[in-house]
Amino acid sequence: MRCKISGKKMKPFMSFGKMPMANGFLDKKNFKKEFFYKLEVGFSKDNYLFQVNDHPKSPHIFNNNYPFYTSKSKFMIGHFKKYFSWAYKKFLNKKSNVIEIGSNDGSFLKNFKMKNINHLGFEPSKNVAYFSKKNFDVNVFNGFFNTKNIRKFKKFKKNTDLICAANVICHIPNLKDVIRSIDYLLSSKGVFIFEEPYLGSMFKKVSYDQIYDAHVFIFSLHSVKTIFKNFGFDLIDAISQKTHGGSMRYIIARSGERKISKRINKILKYEKRLKLNNISSCLKFKKNCEISKRRFKDKINYYKSIGKKIAGYAASAKSSTVFNYCNIGSDQIDYIADSTKEKIGKFSPGKHIPIMPISYFRKNPPDVSVLCSWNHKEEILKKEKSFKKKRGIWISHVK
Ligand code: SAM
Repeated sequence: MRCKISGKKMKPFMSFGKMPMANGFLDKKNFKKEFFYKLEVGFSKDNYLFQVNDHPKSPHIFNNNYPFYTSKSKFMIGHFKKYFSWAYKKFLNKKSNVIEIGSNDGSFLKNFKMKNINHLGFEPSKNVAYFSKKNFDVNVFNGFFNTKNIRKFKKFKKNTDLICAANVICHIPNLKDVIRSIDYLLSSKGVFIFEEPYLGSMFKKVSYDQIYDAHVFIFSLHSVKTIFKNFGFDLIDAISQKTHGGSMRYIIARSGERKISKRINKILKYEKRLKLNNISSCLKFKKNCEISKRRFKDKINYYKSIGKKIAGYAASAKSSTVFNYCNIGSDQIDYIADSTKEKIGKFSPGKHIPIMPISYFRKNPPDVSVLCSWNHKEEILKKEKSFKKKRGIWISHVK
């Protein structure tokens, strides 16, 4: 395995075994053709970067049927509205230029559109890009954010005041190309702001399901600061977020152009206490994953042994890692309920559990439901109050 930043050789410290594509929901006729790879993770000592070894190439993942719409979560719609107001107040004015990387269904970009701010989204997945244009009339380029495609937009060259990204930078293996693209676009005082699942939260919650083919990096302040510094950028602020089970918002500016917040040193000290700058925290995480796997399997086996009917709720990409790593399949889980049209009627990657609509879950409630999107727990439990009233039991691999 090689570090995706330094190119240096490194040894994976953990394997999750044979994995399918986390979003590869499939029809029965494709079971035999299903693609698997070995999901291994490593930690680069030079830049403190937690990363996934070998992974399938992006075009297979971000295609015409990307099964993720930000707007499925009301909480996330609210989050992006607040994020917009905060960013506008702090960094923008009516004449600003804004770019979003991975604009998905337009849930964030529509806020800029409503305020008449010149904006552009880069979104390779055709279905969600089309949805955003149709529903919110936002400006979207249907393609990857990279040094080749950005050159098509000369007006944004060294003239972009805000480049933002949420839950997408960890998807892009060629991070160096992303940073070079940012360098090409950002104005002298411009900022790049991105939010991603935070390594500290993943270690604390043992939420190993943050790791899959498309999530190739799990960042910390140590890694972000070190990597961007080598390209002439400062990490000027970082603000923790509740989204996706514990994320971090990183704010990057050209070196010396903006004041560095006192928060940075405070969080760096916290990370040192957790040893996020050292492989020892990874090895502890590995042990915790093994314990979590045993406990979760025991829990499922126990409910099954006393005759309970078990189903999953929300066929997230994350749940593919859990079911495959724990080897839990359709003999234990009857079905997974989901509301995404691209998934319903198909089968879960690797374990081939049928995906049913949410209405099916409400009509045929199981005794026990695995909360696959545990990161949207509050919202789901509120929506499915009647399940608990019918004595339904929610379980999850994350405490
Ligand atoms: N930003 C949204 C959010 O936080 O809800 C969407 C996140 S979704 C997990 C990731 C999005 O990034 C997908 O819509 C995907 O198609 C897009 N994406 C993946 N690789 C990309 C790349 N290289 N350039 C731009 N967008 C990309």
